[in-house]
Amino acid sequence: MDLKNYIREVQDFPKEGIGFKDITTLLNNGEVFKKTIDMCVENVSEFDFDVIVGPEARGFIVAAPMSYALSKSFVPIRKPGKLPSETVSIEYELEYGVDKLEIHKDAIKKGQKVLIADDLLATGGTVNAIVKLIESMGAEVVGMVFIMELSFLNARDLIGDYNIKSLIKY
Ligand code: 5GP
Repeated sequence: MDLKNYIREVQDFPKEGIGFKDITTLLNNGEVFKKTIDMCVENVSEFDFDVIVGPEARGFIVAAPMSYALSKSFVPIRKPGKLPSETVSIEYELEYGVDKLEIHKDAIKKGQKVLIADDLLATGGTVNAIVKLIESMGAEVVGMVFIMELSFLNARDLIGDYNIKSLIKY
């Protein structure tokens, strides 16, 4: 099954010049969605972890079913102001301006082993910030998994020496 056949590319979204990889067409096929999650699970089979972390919003679509399949904890990472209890946060640079992500302070304990899951790895800015956030809580990032990776953006150079898995490369 070539997952690329199920991903729609939308030109000029969210702004001109960007070819957005749209996974809603993949999600809309139950068998393909299940196979995608199964492949993510297989790809991390050699990693030892307690928690799967996923960033809002498409990261939830990957991380939560993986947590269900593996009976592991799921911890959401959210945009500012969405989480109800006490949070820790990290700011990170975008092409223009800064963005911020938050996690519940008590969601990850010191020494826990964490897997990060998201739909797409582009520049690596998002996941790099998540790594720093998790490590600032005293936990260990044992790896990360993505459905898609835009290899030409060289995110791996930014992220550094971590176990990075992706199902599809562009
Ligand atoms: P990065 O921080 O690596 O540059 O961008 C990755 C983040 O932006 C991911 O959380 C991902 O959901 C989102 N993203 C950026 N470009 C795309 C795209 O073309 N398709 C999808 N589905 N998500 C994208």
